[in-house]
Amino acid sequence: MADTSTTLRLLAAHGDDLLGVLRDQQLHEALVPYCENGPRLLRCSKHDAKGNPCKGKIVWLAISPYEPRVLGSPLGPRSDELLKKDQREYNLPPSSTAPTALFPNWSIGPVDGRDVGEDVDTDLPELERLRWIVGCRRHGCGARYLVTNTQLLALLVSCVAKGSGDLWIPISSEVGPAN
Ligand SMILES: [Zn+2]
Repeated sequence: MADTSTTLRLLAAHGDDLLGVLRDQQLHEALVPYCENGPRLLRCSKHDAKGNPCKGKIVWLAISPYEPRVLGSPLGPRSDELLKKDQREYNLPPSSTAPTALFPNWSIGPVDGRDVGEDVDTDLPELERLRWIVGCRRHGCGARYLVTNTQLLALLVSCVAKGSGDLWIPISSEVGPAN
């Protein structure tokens, strides 16, 4: 298994080549162990006038086990009860919920889990849409950040390696408010 610094170096070697990251088999293999850690919450790093961090929720992120791609969902973990309730309400077989999900009890998956944020490059082919604008969901904050797949992968890898819980978006990624 590649160590953290090797994994981060493989990622950094691609620079601004966002598409190159997806095609890097060596990187993919290095990232697989990090997938198993499951989704983590990305939080807002903006400080208010008093210097207190916002800590608002932005999006839940995980690394896809299929390719070097970040998957996201605005929804947090779902309890077993909620899963069972859905199962009853929609008359779903038990196999349709927890055991088949990519991450059990989560809404993050390769099908419904790609809504990391607003796509920036909407006129590009799907594969090249690897930059997003994400926003803080805390009432009254409104901070928006421009992030790339590469950047979020590096953030997830560092966070898992350090054993820390949540991800903090770099304040340098902040962009202006939406018009
Ligand atoms: Zn915020």
